[in-house]
Amino acid sequence: MDQKAQLAKLGLFDAKVPRYTSYPTAPHFRESTDSTVFSSWVSSISPGSSISLYVHVPFCRRLCWFCACRTQGTQSDAPVEAYIEVLKAEIALLQQQLPEGVTLSRLHWGGGTPTLLSADLIRGLAEAITQALPLDPRAEFSVEIDPNEIGGRRLDALAAAGMNRASVGVQDFDGTIQQAIGRIQSFDATRQAIEMLRAHGIESLNADILFGLPHQTPARMTESVQKLLSLTPDRAAVYGYAHVPWMAGRQSMIRSDTLPTPEARLELFETARQLFLWDGYREIGIDHFARPEDGLAIARRTGRLRRNFQGYTDDPAEVLIGIGASAISRFPQGYAQNAPGTSAYVRAIRDGRFATARGHAFGGDDLLRARLIEALMCDFRICRDEILSRFPVSDAVLNSMLAEAGAAFPGMLALSPKGLEVREEARPLTRMIARSFDAYDLSKAGHSTAI
Ligand code: SF4
Repeated sequence: MDQKAQLAKLGLFDAKVPRYTSYPTAPHFRESTDSTVFSSWVSSISPGSSISLYVHVPFCRRLCWFCACRTQGTQSDAPVEAYIEVLKAEIALLQQQLPEGVTLSRLHWGGGTPTLLSADLIRGLAEAITQALPLDPRAEFSVEIDPNEIGGRRLDALAAAGMNRASVGVQDFDGTIQQAIGRIQSFDATRQAIEMLRAHGIESLNADILFGLPHQTPARMTESVQKLLSLTPDRAAVYGYAHVPWMAGRQSMIRSDTLPTPEARLELFETARQLFLWDGYREIGIDHFARPEDGLAIARRTGRLRRNFQGYTDDPAEVLIGIGASAISRFPQGYAQNAPGTSAYVRAIRDGRFATARGHAFGGDDLLRARLIEALMCDFRICRDEILSRFPVSDAVLNSMLAEAGAAFPGMLALSPKGLEVREEARPLTRMIARSFDAYDLSKAGHSTAI
């Protein structure tokens, strides 16, 4: 049986599984984790420690049809200015609760389109953040950049605030595909944005592309990846487009009969993967590629790769606080998510309380299962010694968990006294294998396709 037939037999082309950027995944968050819980978790951060901060800007100048992000279109600056004031109020609330001497090792601005902020708004927001949470000397400050929505003054302001990393959304350079997904972005606009970023001292540049888009073929994918490679990003993410128009209404503009089949999606991903590998990039987890000297590639080699809401990271911080509407925080005690809707978020902060709407406090064997899943998603293997030394689980229980996964994926996993390893040809199944360690009921959560 060839590889495709084996993967099909195990359900790769039919399964719906989480992307496991958290465990448990967000559909299992509950309202019992509220602003009081969030506040107590903030207070328990170790004084003088370094944490990470994510800032969500839920506005865009236009709404692209393919995008499932929580964001709203606006041509006027008024709602954006009002929102930034609320973000500053949230930072002030945080500052009241934070122990002494907490600093930032990572700062990430995402959205939406954070680069639609004017230079003045960028300066004001960055100042409010760094007054409350100073950047460490070697901190990484990354921003999601829309090449259609950036200019010299805004870049000057971001660079002056300390931005040293950038992430550029590309999707695909093909004109037919861009029309079909409602996002026109020329190669020249992307190239110019990247040149400007490098001229502003950006040390690491990430680009995102998508597979599984309407009208996408291996030939078109090859051309897009080659164009992207000519811009020499330090990292690239190759995400699968998830067509879920019942959850993201804009996607109903995309005709489902123009989308590639699950089998064709696998071929598109493999096409991109080969091109990155031939160009010397290292494979990072299930969907990232990085130059060998990049931090992610080093973390992968040295076993320090982690998974969080932004995908893969080498961030060792135990605490990630998300501010803004819908932003998710992670603490050693659990997850907390702000109200997803901008108006509910704004109301809470203006009332002088945190906007936590739901979350999850770790209990039972959550942390053990979270690590098993993270190890698979990052390293494609589970090391028995590491798990036994970090978690209160017996050898017998761990053995039976690993054996159960092995039995569910015959011939795809190598089991040994050291632990479990996903065979290279089985890597497309990784999210499905991770699911076998998930103790929550996934039947109603509406996850995306496994490939
Ligand atoms: S792709 Fe970017 S610009 Fe387009 S709707 Fe999504 S967040 Fe906004």
